[in-house]
Amino acid sequence: MIPVFKPLIEAEEINASKESLEMGWLGMGSYVSQFEEAVAKEIGGDRYVAAVSTATAGLHLALLLAEVGAGDEVIVASFNCSADFQVVSWVGAELVFCDCIDDGLGIDLDKAQLLVTEKTKAVIVMDYACGVMDHEKVRIFAEKNQVRIIHDASHSFGSSYQGKKIGSFSDITVFSFDPVKTVTCLDGGVVVVKSEAELKRLHELRLLGMQQPSTVMYKNQRAWTFDVASVGFRYHMLNMHAAIGMAQINKLDVIRDTRRLGCLEYSKQLANFDAVKIPKGDFYGMNPFIYYIRVDSQYRDNLREYLKEQGVDTGIHWLPGHTFTLWKQCKAGDLTVTSLLAKELITLPLHSKMAINDIKFICEKIRAFFGDKND
Ligand SMILES: *Cc1c(COP(=O)(O)O)cnc(C)c1O
Repeated sequence: MIPVFKPLIEAEEINASKESLEMGWLGMGSYVSQFEEAVAKEIGGDRYVAAVSTATAGLHLALLLAEVGAGDEVIVASFNCSADFQVVSWVGAELVFCDCIDDGLGIDLDKAQLLVTEKTKAVIVMDYACGVMDHEKVRIFAEKNQVRIIHDASHSFGSSYQGKKIGSFSDITVFSFDPVKTVTCLDGGVVVVKSEAELKRLHELRLLGMQQPSTVMYKNQRAWTFDVASVGFRYHMLNMHAAIGMAQINKLDVIRDTRRLGCLEYSKQLANFDAVKIPKGDFYGMNPFIYYIRVDSQYRDNLREYLKEQGVDTGIHWLPGHTFTLWKQCKAGDLTVTSLLAKELITLPLHSKMAINDIKFICEKIRAFFGDKND
């Protein structure tokens, strides 16, 4: 079976985890500091980076940094990961579901404009799959409406927008390094902020509110005396996770290049094939996470079933948030694109260093499926 996701775990990652275990400092320590530096170097710019346990934790902290709470509204695309909805519920704010645009599937900022009220405190924007948002449009939107932007860049670590690395220009950016993402720490996340003051807040928020300088723990030491002046969580990153993450960042070029080649091969094989709609563009500057196709909703489930019989696993990213029991009462705008998408999307397998022959095989099977339909 060709899986949807397949982590690139090689000798370097195994050695890194072994070394970090042998060092005997298991919690947050020197590897976490080095990992933060590696992330900061990759994204460039003058930003501050704090590693956390997951991107979900990072999104939670991002909302707290933006001072989002009860009585506030957060506009988010209904087409998103459940983590983005949960964190809004965690801080007691109201979700306002927005549609996404047909091209690239990012949040539709024109429709978001119609949802802005006096209560709107923040908007979550997300780069989807193998592309990035129009971030200039995001900047203009934020300035016009005076709202905070939480940029969920879980899919776009290592990608660029107009020559600038993702993470180098947004209000608050969150990356994911979870088990299936392009770069993994097993589990991990990073929050990128603009000021040292926000970084200091993150250091407290991620470790039980302790005003204990992270710099002590970065030396694999413990600060025994400290004050606690605010609520905090247990969201820090562990040394072994950071060690694995660094081994992964060292191969970012290979990860990015081979994933991009994979996407290009899919697009080449499936272009000019009417039954299948493919993502636009040549993925230049992208570190693609997912390659997706859209097919007429009447064929979607049958095609997935057929591919499974042929040894090809597929996925659906995602079911829309406004359809879930917990959030179906939430405010929502027009969701025409989202509702259609949800019935058309298929995630095809994409791995770092994926065999091009596997992609050719998958495309042959997709064609065969629709060929049979024409008989
Ligand atoms: C994976 C993902 C998350 C959650 O990341 P974790 O590190 O697993 O918590 C959030 N948003 C999006 C868009 C994701 O794909």
